[in-house]
Amino acid sequence: MAGAMSSENSSGPDLRRYRRQIILPGWGDEAQQKLSRSTVFVAGAGGLGCAVTLNLTLAGVGRLRICDSDTVDITNLNRQFLHMEQSIGSDKTLSAQATLSAINSEITIETVSQKITDSNVDEIVGDAQLIIDCLDNFDGRYALNLCAVRKGIPMVHGAIWGLEGRITFLHPPKTPCLACFFPKAPDLHEIPVLGAVPCTTGSLQAIEALKHLTGSGTTLKGRMLVMDFSTMRFQDLEVRRNPHCPVCASR
Ligand SMILES: [Zn+2]
Repeated sequence: MAGAMSSENSSGPDLRRYRRQIILPGWGDEAQQKLSRSTVFVAGAGGLGCAVTLNLTLAGVGRLRICDSDTVDITNLNRQFLHMEQSIGSDKTLSAQATLSAINSEITIETVSQKITDSNVDEIVGDAQLIIDCLDNFDGRYALNLCAVRKGIPMVHGAIWGLEGRITFLHPPKTPCLACFFPKAPDLHEIPVLGAVPCTTGSLQAIEALKHLTGSGTTLKGRMLVMDFSTMRFQDLEVRRNPHCPVCASR
């Protein structure tokens, strides 16, 4: 893809690395091979994106495409653990790629340092079979949602605010799309964040992705997991399609 940079290792996966997950019930070599043939698009290399890409890298997802237009800033370092102090000022995608490649050199990591918009999103997402929304702005999220609906691919949505995290698995028409239950962007300013919250929320997004890619377990289709870390009360709320949704109703 034009503009994408990648670090690639063409030899097949060494299954010894994944032995402790291959022995999971219902997993086996077959699920692992499915992961190694998978391509996942991760929007955002911030707090959520660091946790998502780390866990997908550890698990052996074959190809990750990471998109973020920001550079590393000192204010990121309380939560965005893939970026080191010496990476301040560098592209976040390149900083994340360097750390992830050092952890698992078998993974192909493509980077796109662009802001996601309605007009470039289809090309940037490319042939990925799953989108993971780790953004902190609704313009980008709505563009991603539109792209997921157009391409008919699922999207794992995640968001945090302070000590609260939320995730859901979107794949219309079996589930709502993002616009069904978030028709209007909330008024966002500087979001308060404690690092462990995006770290936990992003890890759960990664679990949703891994279950979907391997065909194991049950994903959060039609359900929103709302986690209040200040009380440790987790709720599992039903989310429904809007029959008049401007994005997904007519598709
Ligand atoms: Zn919708």
